[in-house]
Amino acid sequence: MDKIEHIGIAVKDLEASNKLFEKLLGVPHYKIEEVASEGVKTSFFKSGPNKIELLEATKPDSPIAKYLEKKGEGIHHIAFSVEDIVSEIERLKGEGFVVLNETPKKGADNKLVAFLHPKGTNGVLVELCQEIKEG
Ligand code: ZN
Repeated sequence: MDKIEHIGIAVKDLEASNKLFEKLLGVPHYKIEEVASEGVKTSFFKSGPNKIELLEATKPDSPIAKYLEKKGEGIHHIAFSVEDIVSEIERLKGEGFVVLNETPKKGADNKLVAFLHPKGTNGVLVELCQEIKEG
């Protein structure tokens, strides 16, 4: 695994949180993207070398809606960038981690992503993400 690619934060009201994080970080979000298959709308901020992803549920049965219901707003996941997501999934499975997406799926911000079950990672939802290369 490589550097932390971003930190995902679950929020109830993306518009209000965009304003809040703009005040906090001193920069506006640089993109908003909806991932319909996941029932989530995301916005992204860059702060120095760091990236923050805010996540708002777009339907009541989406994973983010369930998370907010159970735990409230807060840090939802930590994403690590990986060079080769398929071989990293194989490696982690070999180490006994439970991979929630054996086949990586298309996530926000031009990434292939896969998640590890938080039960195997001290309660932290870990996302692997690999930049989708054009061509
Ligand atoms: Zn993420």
